[in-house]
Amino acid sequence: MTRGFVADLDLAGRRVVVRGGRAEALAPVTALLEAGADVTVVSDVPGTTIADLADRGLLTVRSEGDDGVLDGAALLVPATGDPDLDADAARRAAARGVLAVRPAVPLLPGGDGRGEVVLVGGGPGDPGLLTVAGLEAVRTADVLVVDRLAPLSVLQQVRPGAEVIDVAKIPRGTFTSQERINELLVEHGRAGRRVVRLKGGDNFVFGRGGEEWQACAAAGIPVRVVPGVSSAIAAPALAGIPLTHRQLTQGFTVVSGHLPPGDPGSTLDWAALARAGTTLVVLMGVATLPAITAELVAQGMAPGTPAATVADAGLPSQRDVRGRVDDIAALTLEAGIRPPAITVIGAVAGFRP
Ligand code: SAH
Repeated sequence: MTRGFVADLDLAGRRVVVRGGRAEALAPVTALLEAGADVTVVSDVPGTTIADLADRGLLTVRSEGDDGVLDGAALLVPATGDPDLDADAARRAAARGVLAVRPAVPLLPGGDGRGEVVLVGGGPGDPGLLTVAGLEAVRTADVLVVDRLAPLSVLQQVRPGAEVIDVAKIPRGTFTSQERINELLVEHGRAGRRVVRLKGGDNFVFGRGGEEWQACAAAGIPVRVVPGVSSAIAAPALAGIPLTHRQLTQGFTVVSGHLPPGDPGSTLDWAALARAGTTLVVLMGVATLPAITAELVAQGMAPGTPAATVADAGLPSQRDVRGRVDDIAALTLEAGIRPPAITVIGAVAGFRP
């Protein structure tokens, strides 16, 4: 993976200040994090993805009035998306003896009239797990509409002038509504632009890809699909858990855990899942894991059934917790696991190669 504008600089452990915390800053910020820099983002209103990276301790956000922010900095990267603000930030850095490196300024392209929307599955987070077709679509896009769980470091490969729009949703946090996302895809497609909708995993596995497709189809915009490696399959594999194994199970079932058993909105038959004899893969279930596992046991699943939770699969922070269906919720909580994480329940979760 190229590191774009910082490719030749040794920034490991060096403090780098990025001015701007919105979508324009995502590509430089991910490049700098990959280069091992200690990143401080200066922004009064950081976008959802930058706020989330700060929340996970991967970078620091400081307010715009903070004059001391350049002290000890090796580099300033202006990335506000506004050429005047960027030039001003570079001037102020120069006055303090801090070098400024400016990534390409995005200009909204007119499009070549052949508008289309490509639904690209980005895989679980490691840029190496994006498909060749997905990477090609990213490289040639005019507009990229991206999520927090998409492999953000590939944004360094977008062509100069492409616009990146951050529509991250955070569980129980701020979000861009699905209606607004559909509108964005349609608006840019209609303007003749090549639009890439880049999501984590596969767009049709709890990714609302079907709704986006319908919105585009209703507006007469051509849609292309590039399937992605779903975390439902990749996370167990990366943690060394085969989802099926000849002697152990003849199938797997993937469910969303965002609603606990008994919730009026839930349509899952937990009693059937407890008896199905397939590996059960629960996505979006960190908060509901105590209720889900208790229900599975209450419905007859053996309490000693192996279980594992895998967090941040495909990212440097990947980790897993192993246990049994009757203690995996407590172990997951104790380990301080936060989304994104999946839980695998079934004999294969106890697999040792
Ligand atoms: N379309 C995505 C799933 C979106 S729902 C896919 O196919 O992977 C979001 C849920 O996916 C998270 O709550 C988590 O359960 C799971 N997830 C996504 N990325 C993950 C990762 N890198 N590691 C573990 N779980 C992940």
